[in-house]
Amino acid sequence: MSYVDEVYARVVAQNPNEPEYHQAVKEVLDSLKLVIDANEEKYRAVSLLERFVEPERIISFRVPWVDDKGNVQINKGYRVQFNSAIGVYKGGLRFHPTVNQSILKFLGFEQVLKNSLTGLPIGGGKGGSNFDPKGKSDREVMAFCQSFMTELYRHIGPNVDCPAGDIGVGGREIGYMFGQYKRITKHYEGVLTGKGLTFGGSLVRTEATGYGLIYILNEMLTHNNHSLEGKTVIVSGSGNVAIYAVEKLQQYGAKVVAMCDSNGYIYDKDGIKLDVVKNIKEVRRARISEYVKEVPTAVYTEGKGIWSIPCDIALPCATQNELDLEDAKMLKANGCIAVAEGANMPTTREATDYFLENGVLFMPGKAANAGGVATSALEQSQNSMRMSWTFEEVDAKLKDIMVNIFAKAADAAERYGVPGNYVAGANIAGFEKVANAMMAQGIV
Ligand code: NDP
Repeated sequence: MSYVDEVYARVVAQNPNEPEYHQAVKEVLDSLKLVIDANEEKYRAVSLLERFVEPERIISFRVPWVDDKGNVQINKGYRVQFNSAIGVYKGGLRFHPTVNQSILKFLGFEQVLKNSLTGLPIGGGKGGSNFDPKGKSDREVMAFCQSFMTELYRHIGPNVDCPAGDIGVGGREIGYMFGQYKRITKHYEGVLTGKGLTFGGSLVRTEATGYGLIYILNEMLTHNNHSLEGKTVIVSGSGNVAIYAVEKLQQYGAKVVAMCDSNGYIYDKDGIKLDVVKNIKEVRRARISEYVKEVPTAVYTEGKGIWSIPCDIALPCATQNELDLEDAKMLKANGCIAVAEGANMPTTREATDYFLENGVLFMPGKAANAGGVATSALEQSQNSMRMSWTFEEVDAKLKDIMVNIFAKAADAAERYGVPGNYVAGANIAGFEKVANAMMAQGIV
């Protein structure tokens, strides 16, 4: 049995009932096989892989709070502090009813590699709760956030672990948690990122993931003798990542013809009017179907099907597993030349393999959406320096980071004999830095 297979078998045996975690470990280890085989003796001698797949620490706690009817509610809270070899743990908090230990371990594991790829000194973690903010009053959300932080505060800090937002945790939740942390500890410090601009937040954080996605896409296209100018693009979703990806695409001269939400998709052959989408989604918080009321030449279709529209470039920016093998075949048949993942794991394994085997340029989320966490790390830097950089300064640093991520992924793919395979390249480049740091720090 190869070292990779041995370690995977051990993960499955020791972590029963954690399918998402198993899946993430399998996908990553498979793509690291080249580098692991090349260094097997060295890694085996210090059980490097066994330590790499095991979180350093998992904190799990109860979160009691009182709802508006006076009933006591109990949720589960977690923080997975996965790997601190290259820096303070960093990764989002997710509040969603599906949250469990397996999902947080999968996300934390992926985060270790993503954070490493940014080139910044950030370790990987993830946390959250099975609390569902949807349908809760502001007071209930505040009560929950305060109770959650009343336990979490003792495990985090600007030099220990610095969480951010994720699904269900936006500016409102970060604000409530920051307030409670400050109240308990008396410390005004950069312990959370994604804060409001009046209390330590960073300019560009809102735009960062979408802008970063387009910066790295542009880099990938340029290196493969294409450009964004005049390209027809589909961007799925119409949330934070999608909106700012479209904004940047339009600045580069690309034409976005379709977007969606979880109800259906819009097709505007003349190019999506982003001000209309922003008004619907950011101001009125309404459905994407409203778009056709304001742009009657556009067409709205209920349900799935956005990937059936012909395009040059497809950017899945909505949710996990939204683009499957059938979609991939359709995109290729319609002339799609490139795919970059704005969302986390939006492309199924089969679809990813299809793109790689059929000459479609493919940039995985770990690299493509790393602009969000990178800008969070820039927020930490500004907090530590007690300074705020201008929009242009942060944007320039973000662009640099994304260009470097592309270079690292491309270089690693080349070095290991799979040029153009940015999935393998991103995993290898992220892993090498963490592995070197772990080797240097001894058996810890
Ligand atoms: P938002 O909640 O702002 O937007 C998500 C969008 O996707 C919404 O338009 C939503 O529609 C749509 N959507 C959700 N489920 C489906 C579905 N099944 N089919 C079609 N559309 C769907 O989230 P973000 O934009 O912040 O995040 C999107 C993805 O990017 C997630 O995977 C997230 O983990 C990832 N990501 C985000 C980062 C960030 O900085 N925001 C950083 C790195 C990764 P509806 O309104 O109907 O729910």
